[in-house]
Amino acid sequence: PTPPRLQRVTVLGATGSIGMSTLDVLARHPDRFEAFALTAQVQVERLFELCLRFSPRFAVLVDSAAASDLRQRLKAAGSATEVLAGAGALVEVAAHPDTDAVMAAIVGAAGLAPALAAARAGKRVLLANKEALVLSGRLFMQAVAASGAQLLPIDSEHNAVFQALPQGYTRDPQRCGVRRILLTASGGPFRERSLESLANVTPDEACAHPNWVMGRKISVDSATMMNKGLEVIEAHWLFAVPPEAIEVVVHPQSVIHSMVEYADGSVLAQLGNPDMRTPIAHALAYPERIDAGVRPLDLFEIGRLNFERPDFVRFPCLALAYDALREGGAAAAVLNAANEEAVAAFLDRRVGFTRIPDIIAATLERACDLSVDCIEAILDADARAREIARSEILARQTTP
Ligand code: NAD
Ligand code: MG
Repeated sequence: PTPPRLQRVTVLGATGSIGMSTLDVLARHPDRFEAFALTAQVQVERLFELCLRFSPRFAVLVDSAAASDLRQRLKAAGSATEVLAGAGALVEVAAHPDTDAVMAAIVGAAGLAPALAAARAGKRVLLANKEALVLSGRLFMQAVAASGAQLLPIDSEHNAVFQALPQGYTRDPQRCGVRRILLTASGGPFRERSLESLANVTPDEACAHPNWVMGRKISVDSATMMNKGLEVIEAHWLFAVPPEAIEVVVHPQSVIHSMVEYADGSVLAQLGNPDMRTPIAHALAYPERIDAGVRPLDLFEIGRLNFERPDFVRFPCLALAYDALREGGAAAAVLNAANEEAVAAFLDRRVGFTRIPDIIAATLERACDLSVDCIEAILDADARAREIARSEILARQTTP
């Protein structure tokens, strides 16, 4: 038999937590994968090292000064990697005719344009960048259907759901006997902390996740449980399941990554150690299975699996996300933009942790009549919501 052709993989956000885990899996299988393009925002040092190690055809830095710096250093090192600069170059490499698979692992709305470009170009899209789907769900899924792209979820919960759904799931839950999706949530670092003390938690405390090591933005989202809210919206678009059929189950051990409940009462779960290389390897090799470098699950060591109802009082962001999904239109895009701004302000110590949901709620109230029927309108709505959110942040800013 002829060996399978190498899959040429573009990694958007290569220097991040998901990007580095992706490259770790790629490096284990040089017979299957090669890096086609690696991208980052400004991280010259790390991207330089990755270029020497993986010899991609292209490296992209959004920041142009950083890109010139990288170009010079690679040239001096005798590397053949071509360096491109600017956000437009992200779109270019994501849709390039010579790339087969695109890992969308940029954080936030900044990742939408290249992820959508990959979907429109009919690539195998490995989607970690949940914000892209929250912003543009309908448009994104239409692009996937129109181009015949293969969309594979990387978010561990959605990857678990994908694995627990029937092969060839038609995005018609009724027809496939799917009753509910049960999204598990760890509850983050503040699940048991006293409510009064939440106002004074620091960025580092919020980023100290009990089970996962991740970028700072998603770590804060996990602490507010907005991450789970964004994931409810993500699940709605990926699997065409209505909001009332998506339930959040707090499961502090993060061993069950999510479940699908069927009409006959069966509940199928996917389990594993909390290591993103499992969903990454699953999506890269799908429908085959490859080694991901992940430690085998030791159920005896884990001992027990616990489940709790989510606390909507402690975590108002979760309710805000469900409301935005039910409201439809631009609400989810506004929610996402306000959240990105509020989290950035919290990480800068400009506002307290418990102000995050207040800022989002206030922004949702003020942002109305925004359109989300094309990418330009979505980006406009995103920009408008950010302006409003910034004024809400200013109004709550703690003077240093
Ligand atoms: P990270 O902060 O570690 O990395 C982000 C990457 O995006 C970096 O390479 C950075 O250079 C790039 N980037 C940031 N801003 C950019 C911009 N404006 N333009 C272009 N590139 C930019 O983030 P992460 O934890 O790897 O998360 C990436 C995405 O994956 C997020 O959407 C997150 O929600 C999702 N995700 C992450 C995890 C995880 O375990 N880390 C799990 C599930 C989903
Ligand atoms: Mg997740």
